[in-house]
Amino acid sequence: MQNRRDWLKKALMASAALPLGASLGEQLMAAPVSETERRFMRSRYAGLIKVRLGSNENPYGPSERARKAISEIISETNRYPFQSVTEFKKVLAEYEGVTPDHILVGAGSSDLLCATGSAFGVEEGAVLSPNPTFPMLMNYASVYSALWDKVDLNDKLEIDYSLLASRIHGGTRLVYICNPNNPTGTLVDPTLVRSFCEDISGTVPVFADEAYLEFLEPSQQLSMIALIRRDKEVIVSRTFSKIYGLAGLRIGYLIARPDIAKKIARHHPGIPTNQVGLAAATASLGDKDFMALTRKKNAVARKHLTNYLEKKNLIYGESHTNFVMFDPNTDGHQVVTRLAEKGFGIRVWDYKSKPWCRVSIGTLDEMKMFTRALDSAF
Ligand code: PLP
Repeated sequence: MQNRRDWLKKALMASAALPLGASLGEQLMAAPVSETERRFMRSRYAGLIKVRLGSNENPYGPSERARKAISEIISETNRYPFQSVTEFKKVLAEYEGVTPDHILVGAGSSDLLCATGSAFGVEEGAVLSPNPTFPMLMNYASVYSALWDKVDLNDKLEIDYSLLASRIHGGTRLVYICNPNNPTGTLVDPTLVRSFCEDISGTVPVFADEAYLEFLEPSQQLSMIALIRRDKEVIVSRTFSKIYGLAGLRIGYLIARPDIAKKIARHHPGIPTNQVGLAAATASLGDKDFMALTRKKNAVARKHLTNYLEKKNLIYGESHTNFVMFDPNTDGHQVVTRLAEKGFGIRVWDYKSKPWCRVSIGTLDEMKMFTRALDSAF
């Protein structure tokens, strides 16, 4: 009872701290991550974007299977998706080799990152993560007064797992990792990451965000879900927004030991998903041909971009995903603004006292247009 009262008090305090007129979710989703980006968002150029290279979407999706499922489910959209969520969990459980009690389904994985941030954030203490990384969980935990301990990447813009492990202390409540990492796209050997998760989870739970796992070749796709099957305190999130090309339908899922999933579920509102998204996700799950085609086209378009960056002697992270982070070696704000004037939307991160650009990989034609635009944006 005391715990629930404390939690409610903190939730009210947290929502009172936000400006009126915006939900907590909107605040965090929209939060610019750098001073450069804050300036850009406020500028008149933000509305000019025609080629969207800012959100790591799949420019080729949704797949044929998803399109068919979407058109077939339309006549059932007058119904709540209660039964569909239950069915979807069964499908996921079978696919991932866990039970439905291990699974939470959310409106995108953001939804579940927020719920986890809240579940661990109310415990105060600290959440530890590499920096930079996808900030959603830590932002949410910080709202509930948890501290956010950050560990910089190594010189190759990769997560330094031994440094991360050395920063765990008595107050650390959760460690967040992302492999491949966003915004850098860099990958650390998945077997090393698995050893990290195995070791650390004996002391503190580890959250492994696997939003971009399917961009790796199948032989490299080593999910941390294997550890959950062995009852380790590891939490994994996956999404249909990236390789599956269903970002607009908002479906993601989380896998954890049933007691941990239950703890997070207490911070997750009702049934936020929808019939259309669930049908499309069910049809898309494990579509090897569509994923292989996306990977192939993505690699070609990414190569066009990295060849260009190399020609220009610009430093970039070796990407295993559908985005690349590079140092523009000049005023990042100007680069973003000039690109926006030409209709291209990208993102900016402040890291080690300078702005870094992150560009999502579009189609090859889009990347050709982008490199031409970038050429005149410096
Ligand atoms: N995790 C990572 C690493 C991401 O990059 C993103 C989106 O860009 C998400 C989670 C959230 O995606 P969604 O809410 O669409 O599943």
